[in-house]
Amino acid sequence: MLYASLLLAVFSFAVYFYLKGEFGALPAEEDAAYARLDYYRDGRFQSPVKTTFDPDKVSGGAGRSILRFFSRSVNAPDNPLPKVMLDKSSFSDPPSGYALYWLGHSSAILELDGKRLLFDPVFGNAAPLPFMVQRYDDAPIKREDLPTIDYIVITHNHYDHLEKQTVRSIKNGRFIVPLGLGATLREWGVDAHRITELGWGDSYTKDGLVITALEGVHFSGRGFFDRNRTLWAAYVVKSTRKTIFWSGDTGYGNHFARFKEQYGPFDLAAIEIDGWNSGWPRSHMFPEEAAQAALDLGAEETLPIHWGVFDLAMHPWHESIDAFLEKTKSSDLKILTPRMGEKVIPGVTHTEHWWN
Ligand SMILES: [Zn+2]
Ligand SMILES: [Zn+2]
Repeated sequence: MLYASLLLAVFSFAVYFYLKGEFGALPAEEDAAYARLDYYRDGRFQSPVKTTFDPDKVSGGAGRSILRFFSRSVNAPDNPLPKVMLDKSSFSDPPSGYALYWLGHSSAILELDGKRLLFDPVFGNAAPLPFMVQRYDDAPIKREDLPTIDYIVITHNHYDHLEKQTVRSIKNGRFIVPLGLGATLREWGVDAHRITELGWGDSYTKDGLVITALEGVHFSGRGFFDRNRTLWAAYVVKSTRKTIFWSGDTGYGNHFARFKEQYGPFDLAAIEIDGWNSGWPRSHMFPEEAAQAALDLGAEETLPIHWGVFDLAMHPWHESIDAFLEKTKSSDLKILTPRMGEKVIPGVTHTEHWWN
């Protein structure tokens, strides 16, 4: 009995410390620098539109049970997805002038003016414990096979966008993150000199690139008590020749039209299209809203992201891309739908509806 109790205590401590590491350290609640911000109040960042959760309105049929997080999703594809496997040798040195590799969900590599940016890199599952919220399929590249990266751009700290193991494995490049995430990254071993934290409207400028963080209707949190203690963001990346909009998770709003006005015209807009559910109607976009966001941004080319890897909102795995294409089919938007890992040169590469 004594041994059993001891074992239980040791196990509980191990789980506690493991989870604490996954949750990550937080910025000091009384950070004076945040107090001047009109989107920070009572120790928390504030969404421009309040996000809500109504458990009675959650849709998703058989997949609704909390148990869905612990087993392969009923909405997962039946077979492995077609993809292009990548490793270091797949990439040029130095990086090209303009190329894109969507790695699934919100992870992507963007080459721009000889620099390489890595967005929201997640190669494992999307939860603090390794058996929860599993991927549909392996990523098209392994962490250890990543090429040299100049900038790792993080939109927010949700598990489908920020992964401790990946952060720890990337030994080169500068992390561009929303306010407050520096504390998390430093705890995970990233040198403070490699981290730039941006508030909404703040820019980082170097070597002809300007990276600007922008607002979104969303929230943050990895643990039990850290909701909105760190910020979330979309980004505009401007080089001497191209301007790219990169959506974080967000609900719909007039911010897209405003971004076009202030930062456009855009050559490419990556827009999140999945995560929608009537149980949380404000924090992601329904297909007609994502389509409207794409129209508002009016980019030369549009890349739907945030789909094809995780079942976060109980949709059959390609429901969101089908709905987005349906809602935009009468527009003249050019929409890129590369396979995961496929090299795309926007304006040159023709992509297919590979999931059909
Ligand atoms: Zn999120
Ligand atoms: Zn997300």
